[in-house]
Amino acid sequence: MVGSIHQSLLVAKRLQGKVALITGGASGIGASTARLFAKHGAKVLTADVQDELGHSLSKMNSDESISYVHCDVTSESDVKNAVDLAVSRYGKLDIMFNNAGILGNIETRAVATDTDNFKRVLDVNLVGGFLGAKHAARVMIPAKKGCILFTASVASLVCVGVPHAYTTSKHGLVGLAKSLAVELGEYGIRVNSISPHAVVTPLFQKSLGISDKGKGEEMISATAVLKGTILEAQDIAQAALFLASDEAKYLSGVNLPVDGGYSFNNQTWK
Ligand code: NAD
Repeated sequence: MVGSIHQSLLVAKRLQGKVALITGGASGIGASTARLFAKHGAKVLTADVQDELGHSLSKMNSDESISYVHCDVTSESDVKNAVDLAVSRYGKLDIMFNNAGILGNIETRAVATDTDNFKRVLDVNLVGGFLGAKHAARVMIPAKKGCILFTASVASLVCVGVPHAYTTSKHGLVGLAKSLAVELGEYGIRVNSISPHAVVTPLFQKSLGISDKGKGEEMISATAVLKGTILEAQDIAQAALFLASDEAKYLSGVNLPVDGGYSFNNQTWK
């Protein structure tokens, strides 16, 4: 009996019948989430600027539950088009996952920061997230339900030595999520953010110039609080799955750290 309950939980499709749009969905956390959402019964439209990767991810999913659209999140017309395509292709939009992001130039000193690069990071990470939320809300408000998610970062909670623009953009996303949660609650729309610690993805590897995945994991474990395991893109996908599912029906305005305790560790002496 216990075994069969356990079995049914394992195979339960937690997003059956739902439609999701995932920005930055061609790679890393977005691609992992697209695969997990599809496994749980959702129809998923991934939106990205890496067209080859995006198309190949949808081809790999033989049941056609994942499709792809080119969308630069800094372009309002691209974002509007992606939302409208999700609705015309699948009939509605239940989940908008604003996940696209860049780290930008790795320079961490304010005086040496290129201002155009600072603006570019805010444009992709913060304004891009806002545009996704704005156009998702446009179709979710009449439906009187929906779930909007953002990928923030531990950099939304503590200073982790990344460029100022990245920290600023991720703090901004958390504020935006809370502000939207208050506005959109009346329409049954939940808005949350997820704050991962470091994960070896192309963003992480390219920014730090690390080609070897093992080397990246070594660097991450050295700063991790939780030892004996490594944070992977699929762990962020699992957090997104929970927040997007009906199991989280009363969670809104939450910034969920997926960081093994990293963001509240302050053991400066031992
Ligand atoms: P990734 O590089 O694998 O994925 C990011 C995706 O965003 C890429 O496919 C990229 O093409 C896309 N993208 C970039 N600019 C875009 C634009 N203008 N329009 C549309 N798509 C665009 O990296 P990832 O680590 O999976 O990053 C996903 C999110 O997770 C980002 O928001 C990142 O800031 C956040 N994050 C990553 C880490 C980490 O350590 N990897 C930690 C915390 C938060």
